[in-house]
Amino acid sequence: MSRPAAPPAPAARRSGYEVVVGLEVHLALRTRTKLFCRCAAVGGADAHEPNRHVCPVCLGLPGALPVPNARALELAVRFAAALGCAVPEVTTFARKHYGYPDAPKNYQISQHDRPVGLGGALELPNGRRVGLVRCHLEEDAGRLIHPTYADHSLVDLDRAGAPLIELVTAPDLRSGEDARAFLEEVRALARALDVSDATPEEGRMRADVNVSLRRPGEPLGTKVEVKNLNSFKSVQAAIESEATRQERLLQAGRPVSQETRGWNEGGQKSYVMRTKEEAADYRYLDDPDLPPVRLTAAWLAAVRAATPETPAALRRRYAAAGLRPDDADRLATDADLSRAYDALVAAAGRIAVSTAPAAAPQAPPSAAHAPAPQALANWLLVEVVGWAHATDTDVAALRLSEPDAAERLAALVALVDAREITGPTAKALLGEVLAGADPRALVATRGLRQVSDEDELGGWVDAALAAHPEVAAGAREQPKAVNFLMGRVMQASRGQARPEAVRALLLERLGLAER
Ligand code: ZN
Ligand code: MN
Repeated sequence: MSRPAAPPAPAARRSGYEVVVGLEVHLALRTRTKLFCRCAAVGGADAHEPNRHVCPVCLGLPGALPVPNARALELAVRFAAALGCAVPEVTTFARKHYGYPDAPKNYQISQHDRPVGLGGALELPNGRRVGLVRCHLEEDAGRLIHPTYADHSLVDLDRAGAPLIELVTAPDLRSGEDARAFLEEVRALARALDVSDATPEEGRMRADVNVSLRRPGEPLGTKVEVKNLNSFKSVQAAIESEATRQERLLQAGRPVSQETRGWNEGGQKSYVMRTKEEAADYRYLDDPDLPPVRLTAAWLAAVRAATPETPAALRRRYAAAGLRPDDADRLATDADLSRAYDALVAAAGRIAVSTAPAAAPQAPPSAAHAPAPQALANWLLVEVVGWAHATDTDVAALRLSEPDAAERLAALVALVDAREITGPTAKALLGEVLAGADPRALVATRGLRQVSDEDELGGWVDAALAAHPEVAAGAREQPKAVNFLMGRVMQASRGQARPEAVRALLLERLGLAER
């Protein structure tokens, strides 16, 4: 599905107020274990027996000592660096104190003074840059469950201590739609960099929004925070609803009070959670159990070298290769598809080299050319994705990013491109090729080569005309008749007749075009 370009920063609302939005995004990191202990970092919402992945460290038992997960640190720095954040030479962990039943230590280990990233920006597909304040690493909380059948609540601490990245934006967004475009790009980036699954539906990507109103050019107004939004749709709806609520207050001459609100999914409106007189005092304290971590230049260089391309870089590369903007965007925002596409281009190049006239003088010259990038993209995005949908197969399960599978698919496209087989023949073989068959062998053993021999084509064309004389007679008045007859011929040839040649022959026989 192609994505509409993100809107430009919208003008002020009809009331003359401008909506100002900042986001805090939490992403669950793709690590095997938690941030400071060896317990498995399990998914947010998977159904499982609770409290199976806990230990003295993540339960906050006295005397237990945290040990940082080096992979989590690497992923957080990879993400921060890709966003253009300044990565410090020394990064530190701090305790953020608050008491809540899902936080067994009564503090959360987070980062305060020296996070893994400061500043930076994220570029949206329309080229607009959204400024970032910071990017830090912290541990997740557990989950509270409030059963309707009981007068008590339950706590599951399996998620407590799992690693998160928190990303804080500058107040650069101007609408719910704008915020949604930003979140879609964050999700694409997190997946492309292999940092996070970024699945809001599983609680592995969550957002808090800060919304305020002002007259354009004036200082920022009082902001209201709406917390724990679990879908992009909720983020967009919560921002629009909150902007309208504040607009009504201001137009009635009443002040907006600084507060934290929750989002009621059913009623599509926000409700007050707590009012803040001042910013909450978390009594941040450098964690005495966790010494500062020195990020050496060599380590940082290795992290950068191991960082995959960002969606913005992929989009530029695909556009430069001549792909349609929609296709470039679709590949850039789907890591599985972009890996498959890159493998396909590489495989097509290898096939072209191995069948070049120098290597095999008898090969037709067309076989020496790799199919155009757009042809490969069409096959992947239309035919392969369509086949995967029709057969309920996960595209990732086709392993098209692996050289052998990519080479089989590229060979199929090359056979069409070199006009050795027709498009319909190739489509009929697609499932077998994706399952591991070599298309060249299938074509050879089954005799599926495209037929462009005029005598052979003439036989099918004459048979079709003889079988449908009334259609042939009306072809001059009814242009669709040619398509009907084309269909008969293609069917008779089992899809092997070269369509362009059939059409030319039909038009000639019907006296509709001279050759
Ligand atoms: Zn643990
Ligand atoms: Mn946080």
